[in-house]
Amino acid sequence: MSGFVFSEKPIEIASGDGATLTDTNGTEYLDFGASYACTPVGHCHPEVVDAATSQLEELMYVQASYPHAARTALYEQLSAAGPGDVDEVWLCNSGTEANEAALKFARHATGREKIIATTQGFHGRTMGALATTWKQKYKQGFEPLAGGVEFVEYGDADAMREAVDDETAAVILEPLQGEGGINPAATEYLRTVREVTEEEGAAMVLDEIQTGLGRTGTLWAAEKHDVVPDVLTTAKGLASGLPIGATLCRDWVAEDAGNHGSTFSGGPVVSAAAGATLDVIEREGLPEHAAETGAYIRDQIDERLGDDVRDVRGDGLMIGIEVKRGSNRLLRDLAIDHQVLALPAGRTVLRLLPPLTIEREHADAVVDALAEVIG
Ligand SMILES: *Cc1c(COP(=O)(O)O)cnc(C)c1O
Repeated sequence: MSGFVFSEKPIEIASGDGATLTDTNGTEYLDFGASYACTPVGHCHPEVVDAATSQLEELMYVQASYPHAARTALYEQLSAAGPGDVDEVWLCNSGTEANEAALKFARHATGREKIIATTQGFHGRTMGALATTWKQKYKQGFEPLAGGVEFVEYGDADAMREAVDDETAAVILEPLQGEGGINPAATEYLRTVREVTEEEGAAMVLDEIQTGLGRTGTLWAAEKHDVVPDVLTTAKGLASGLPIGATLCRDWVAEDAGNHGSTFSGGPVVSAAAGATLDVIEREGLPEHAAETGAYIRDQIDERLGDDVRDVRGDGLMIGIEVKRGSNRLLRDLAIDHQVLALPAGRTVLRLLPPLTIEREHADAVVDALAEVIG
């Protein structure tokens, strides 16, 4: 019965190094997304492994009410990394928890109930975050979920203007939707969301769990749009695959966030791994590298496959390729025939979320494989 909710893949992975995963037969795969954006600096980056193992030997766990150097350092790094004055940090263990905290904090700080989410949005699978997730298939049979959530059309500024009022606690959205099909938001739209939430005293919660940490070409997608939210959530690759989530808040939210807690919040090992991951992202200029390499991949796909696909979209190394048939068979062919692991984003979109450290040769190999399976 173990693992019964996951559909298993016919490849058993034994080890990882950089952009490569190796299975138990010794076959190497290029990991262009199979790890769901959890490896921004590549698999088993030596600096992250070192930070985590030395911490592991010294102290595996101490409860968060005792200050600890690794956690304190991570608070400082994340506080400095947050866009604008989004500099108060809450640590947890996953993306959905980061969003749960965001919604709880927003309700408490505003004293309001209403939460606005967007069509095609994905924010996690626990009862609160799931209530703000769009797709019915994730919710079927689990209702009732947290109440007070209203959905508006993603990208429709007028609908957002109309929906946000003085009873709204929060608007939660992704700056570039991942699970929903790699749907970018226009800068103007995000600015409208910023404007109306500010006018009405509601919290703008930007879910950067997939877009953050340099993936879309800047540390946060918010920076590119020059929008400063009230709350920003991050998780996935923050500790290179160890479980972590973070909710970054402006003062007004943090000051009146209410009573919240988590046993493992900012554990020493995961904090050390996250600190090292952030160090590598910054020192190696990975956001800029992601912007360049992503643009190169999208250009190559356009040039070589422009007529064979419906659309190529995304930003940096968060890329969606809308194909003319179901994506499942293509993903299988990529994996089995070309040793390239990628992801779907809905039924007809292939999604690429490789490590930000990939080189041209990796990009070229993947474009070649795509040309063969799609062309
Ligand atoms: C993956 C994801 C989540 C949920 O994160 P988990 O760690 O799986 O709970 C939430 N929002 C977005 C945008 C995501 O991509």
